[in-house]
Amino acid sequence: MSKPRLATVWLDGCSGCHMSFLDMDERLLEIADRADIVYSPLVDHKVFPEDVDFCLVEGAVSSEEDLHKIKLVRERTRTLISFGDCAVTANVPAMRNPIGPGPLLERAYIENVTLNPGIPLQVIPALLPTAQPVHRVVQVDVFLPGCPPSADLIYNALVDLIEGRTPDTRGARFGR
Ligand code: SF4
Repeated sequence: MSKPRLATVWLDGCSGCHMSFLDMDERLLEIADRADIVYSPLVDHKVFPEDVDFCLVEGAVSSEEDLHKIKLVRERTRTLISFGDCAVTANVPAMRNPIGPGPLLERAYIENVTLNPGIPLQVIPALLPTAQPVHRVVQVDVFLPGCPPSADLIYNALVDLIEGRTPDTRGARFGR
């Protein structure tokens, strides 16, 4: 029997949720044995593949690049998991929402800069008007809150998914 195909994606987050994923330590070997990790910042695949069974999505949807990516991920994934508070609520990235992208970029790249101030027009993806939680943009199947979610929570959720159950996240809490 083929293994389920697991992916993880990093949008507008600090990578702390992926660090917590790594905190599963030796249990990572068990997960890698029971699922094929087909796409992730932790493995060297450049293109999000077709036919992904489960995908953990870290971070809010903040840029046009995030928007394009999450739509592609949704199309190609059976069970999409909002992974951490930034994905679930927009959390830290949403702190810029009352300011608006124009004044935010001015502040970051012009007002606070002494050497060559100027808003970059290349390399940095264009910001959306606001940072949004993932479920505001595409359908989400499972919510895994926490900043970051604990390694135990991630492990238990992945085992549930691999064994065909919907993860029970009632014990999960925001902000820790
Ligand atoms: S939920 Fe917390 S740990 Fe995860 S990306 Fe956001 S700020 Fe970082």
